[in-house]
Amino acid sequence: MPGTFTHTFDTPTFKGTSTINTGLFIGGQWVDPVESEFIDVINPATGKVITKVAGGSKADVDKAVEAAKKAYKTAWGFKVHGRVRGQLLSKLADLIEQNLDEFAALETLNTGKVLANAKNMDIGSSIQVFRYYAGWADKIQGKTIQTDENKLAYTRNEPYGVVGQIIPWNFPMGMLSWKIAPAIATGNTIVLKPSEITPLTALKFASLINEAGFPPGVINIVNGYGSTVGQAISEHHGIEKVAFTGSTLTGRRILKASAETNLKDVTLELGGKSPTIIFDDANVEQAIKWAAGGLFFNMGQMCTAGSRVFVQEGVYDKFLEHFTAAAKAMGESAGDPFAPGTGHGPQISQTQFDRVMAYIDSGKQDGATVHIGGVRHGDEGYFIKPTVFTGVRPDMKIVREEIFGPVGVVIKFKTEEEVIQLANDTIYGLASHIFTENASRALRVAHAIESGSVWVNCANAFEVGVPFGGYKQSGIGRELGEWALETYTQIKAVHVNIGVKL
Ligand code: NAD
Repeated sequence: MPGTFTHTFDTPTFKGTSTINTGLFIGGQWVDPVESEFIDVINPATGKVITKVAGGSKADVDKAVEAAKKAYKTAWGFKVHGRVRGQLLSKLADLIEQNLDEFAALETLNTGKVLANAKNMDIGSSIQVFRYYAGWADKIQGKTIQTDENKLAYTRNEPYGVVGQIIPWNFPMGMLSWKIAPAIATGNTIVLKPSEITPLTALKFASLINEAGFPPGVINIVNGYGSTVGQAISEHHGIEKVAFTGSTLTGRRILKASAETNLKDVTLELGGKSPTIIFDDANVEQAIKWAAGGLFFNMGQMCTAGSRVFVQEGVYDKFLEHFTAAAKAMGESAGDPFAPGTGHGPQISQTQFDRVMAYIDSGKQDGATVHIGGVRHGDEGYFIKPTVFTGVRPDMKIVREEIFGPVGVVIKFKTEEEVIQLANDTIYGLASHIFTENASRALRVAHAIESGSVWVNCANAFEVGVPFGGYKQSGIGRELGEWALETYTQIKAVHVNIGVKL
């Protein structure tokens, strides 16, 4: 019998006991993994093991795909009115909301993110995403195409059938909602793999699926390692579509697996090295606050993190002084992510801690100046102080590669043309942040930047109705808004002869 994990929380917002199932959720039931693998779940604020959860294998993915295929054929897809799919998504949103504080506590325990952010940003935004796509579920429409009086031609937006989804650890519930809600609204069934590092909220979510009223097999949650469960999803002949968020390296592997098996459709949301550009004519006080949040929020573990900060020469000194002060204040607010007043938590894992510290060392060895930070915080858990480098060259690793930690570089520039060239000098193209009070300049630069999102006078200001995705090596396809409906449907063209006689 699959085990359970029980934890008693005494947080400012949730005092009580959380009990979640630690098995795999397949065909509407909790099951043990076929190969009896179990994975340690670590609290990154302490480095201690919280619990063990089941880790699946290829055999479990096979079972989940079978369950999803059966559900698609018998109880989902066009067998169910869009209105019903919408009602079930709404019910899921309500159930998450009823358990909001427990979800937030579990997310903070597992990721180390600050409790208020886990509640308002992660879980709060995932509720919005489920509600938003609940509204779309009965509005999936094809088109009629006018040709001549002899023909009726129209399109249908049909689901793929079984969709595979692989998500990362930086926003476990957020990424789960971005994946599941539009795929369900459009009539697909799902096999989702959470990150093996952060499975707790996905397991809590799985316990609500039957309660919401979904037929068994419509949503299956198979925890496990990327090299086993993730690979099996990517290679599976019964899956026609995979949606992935994570590293560019893994994205390549998934595309390769698709190419070498059934050429399944692939959507990828990958890494970034996003520019933040502050012009002399910006509201500098505002720009400092947004830029600091844009880089250090979620301990820098954001694919859109503004980790290359370009500052025009006229405001460079003022910006650097106050940006450094903001980084210092953020570092001073590091601590227990459950405690009120904490603003900065740990990195997600020992591996990520080591990776980020190695980048900091490489910056030092390459001759860059550590303006502030560059060291760990405390002696327990995986905390790293917000770090700002100056005196960098364009060829340095800390300027070119995604660090995925609280580490940024500040670079002085002279002209608009120069900064556009510098900002676009990257293999990535996920996001950019522009600060200026000159509307013409804002739009000119927004149009010249090679990235899927541009935020003007703000940073990382996501909206559920606005598309998100990358240019260049930051990804393929779009999530959010009505664009995600295209991500999870394929177009069928129907030609009906109503007049031609041979
Ligand atoms: P990752 O790409 O290895 O992991 C993301 C997901 O992919 C996880 O669920 C993982 O189990 C799965 N996965 C791993 N190998 C797989 C494979 N061969 N086939 C299918 N699925 C596989 O990312 P990571 O190792 O957790 O983090 C490494 C780096 O990835 C980070 O430092 C960061 O640069 C980047 N990252 C980006 C995002 C993002 O939002 N774009 C999120 C997390 C990590």
